Amino acid sequence: MSALFESILVANRGEIACRIFRTAREMGIRTIAVYSDADANAKHVREADEAVHIGPSAASDSYLRADKVLAAAKQTKAAAIHPGYGFLSENPDFAEAVIKAGMIWVGPTPDAIRAMGLKDEAKRIAISAGVPVLSGYQGEDQSEATLLAEAKNIGFPVLIKAVAGGGGRGIREVKAAGEFKEQLASAQREAKAAFGDDRVLVEKLVERPRHIEVQVFGDKHGHVVHFFERDCSLQRRRQKVIEEAPAPGMTEAVRTAMTDAALKVARAVKYENAGTVEFIVDGAGPLRPDGFWFLEMNTRLQVEHPVTEAVTGHDLVQWQFLVAAGKNLPAQKQIKLNGHAIEARICAEDPSEGFRPSVGRIRTLDFDGYSRVDAGFDAGDTVSSSYDSLLAKEITFAQSREEAIHHARVCLGRLHVEGLATNGAFLQRCLADADFVSGALHTGIIAEKIDTLADRSASRRRAAVIAAQVLRNLDRDERNIWEKTDGWRLNAPPRREWLLEEGGVTVRIEDARPSPLVDGVASDFAAEWLDEEEAQGDMDGLPFRARHMRAGARITVLVAGEAFVFARPGAAADQDVGAGGDDIKAPLPGKIVAFSAKVGASVKKGDALVTLEAMKMEHALKAPRDGVVAEVGASEGAQVKEGALLVRLEPAA
Ligand code: ADP
Ligand code: ADP
Ligand code: MG
Repeated sequence: MSALFESILVANRGEIACRIFRTAREMGIRTIAVYSDADANAKHVREADEAVHIGPSAASDSYLRADKVLAAAKQTKAAAIHPGYGFLSENPDFAEAVIKAGMIWVGPTPDAIRAMGLKDEAKRIAISAGVPVLSGYQGEDQSEATLLAEAKNIGFPVLIKAVAGGGGRGIREVKAAGEFKEQLASAQREAKAAFGDDRVLVEKLVERPRHIEVQVFGDKHGHVVHFFERDCSLQRRRQKVIEEAPAPGMTEAVRTAMTDAALKVARAVKYENAGTVEFIVDGAGPLRPDGFWFLEMNTRLQVEHPVTEAVTGHDLVQWQFLVAAGKNLPAQKQIKLNGHAIEARICAEDPSEGFRPSVGRIRTLDFDGYSRVDAGFDAGDTVSSSYDSLLAKEITFAQSREEAIHHARVCLGRLHVEGLATNGAFLQRCLADADFVSGALHTGIIAEKIDTLADRSASRRRAAVIAAQVLRNLDRDERNIWEKTDGWRLNAPPRREWLLEEGGVTVRIEDARPSPLVDGVASDFAAEWLDEEEAQGDMDGLPFRARHMRAGARITVLVAGEAFVFARPGAAADQDVGAGGDDIKAPLPGKIVAFSAKVGASVKKGDALVTLEAMKMEHALKAPRDGVVAEVGASEGAQVKEGALLVRLEPAA
């Protein structure tokens, strides 16, 4: 295909920049990245044909600087600009500036962005277009008295929403008049800080709602189509976690009513390019043609667009390019729905620590290679605290919802991440939730069950069983290398148990038939060994493929995006590797990737002296005690055998 336009600059980073580049490459379009200090070596920069540095790490000094992005576009003679999502994507002034500079803007018209930019104005447009909206107040008068009077009019519970809000922020629930004042102040504070605009609207709260949205598209010839719906009801703090297409329980009558409503909204603003019309839906019973209300319109490509691509077979980024270049959209009847797709947002965060973002270098990042993965990082990359925590999206497709869910669980069970915490196991548990599986969706599922969904101990138990299986196999091995370090085999057969400690918690695994006891409780566990490093199986209904490595008296298990380093209870952590004494020996055959010990140097107990890469993972070998380096037996880059002497310490003089 001869290129539609010569080049495209993506004013974004991470997975969405990589995603857009992929289609550009397929279409023969030259790709241009922009990057901040923190992203100098980022995946989107590596993948682009050209890259321009636009400033310091803070988004406000780089990715949000329209002037710098435009300068980069001029410098590289970019023919077009795609904004991705977030950052400048819904900034009408930026869109205008791009167009004025003579470049192709891959997005909606500045007028449409502006019209839909504020939730109050968007609701007024929806009302005039004859689209159902929730009863509410979206007026100019922002006095507390008026807002409260309107809230009483609507009837509690209500939501207060920042009109300029997005990403689930600036929204507060008010159950009764007594708490209105406090919640209003809180919403206004957040809105002012996040969006520089503290105006709010008030609307009826839908209890146990679902979130269903329609993908719409317009071309420059007045033609507007939809690409069906997505269900994004699985949310945490009003942010999407898992999305799917089509919506479970959708009927033809409801789909027609919803897609018609979405198209009315799109036509009302002469919509061009990709957009999403979001609806809040009564989730109390079956979907009804009169049971949904317009929420807002997102005038950009959405994070969850891949599920729509999977069920329609259309590349939405390709359509964005084609439409931006003036081509016609396909006819509505050419857009067909087939099968079911699920997307899980894999984030660098720790669900067991209140979803605290996890930053730092990713040592291992392996996806199963079976599903579609849109990733913004590779192993070796660093996740910075300057941006959001989205690492990748895993998208699975199958003919039925049941199979798609199953694939999604399998894929997440095969995710291997080391160096950072991720929400992989949390996502796996969400995908096994009974309400989610049965299609009894609502936006409060995760909040209601957060204690079990975010509970690391369930994942720990699974990893501990895998570790015990490793040890059990080793016991049967004639060349039982394990015996050298001893300690795991507490009892002789026939009944054996293993104590495995991680994060201050000890898990007791006992040999039993047909599957092991975990802390005295029968588990539902089965696994087979694929090779020395990997075991594949199922525990309590959740499939996994785990990778493990042993080093000294430690055993590391990687499963479902989490890493567990088990130790023998009572063993000091720094004795695990290098096993006390004066010598640091290679616990496994491997490659030295870092070597900081120098003869004559003083070291402190616990200093990392050598980094060994073994069994696809890195392991830091630490000084077993204070001392002076007397001898070194290897150097960076060397391949070493198990037991090779790496560093010999002697007591400090
Ligand atoms: P979508 O509506 O496309 O499904 P979201 O609403 O989750 O996706 O996010 C849309 C944009 O808002 C993304 O660019 C995302 O990075 C940004 N965003 C979402 N949540 C936050 C947040 N808490 N802080 C800053 N930006 C956010
Ligand atoms: P944002 O711009 O932050 O995405 P939305 O208006 O789209 O704001 O709402 C975000 C989420 O908040 C919705 O997906 C839904 O879960 C919840 N929500 C919004 N409005 C309502 C409502 N009226 N009743 C119940 N939940 C709502
Ligand atoms: Mg929204």
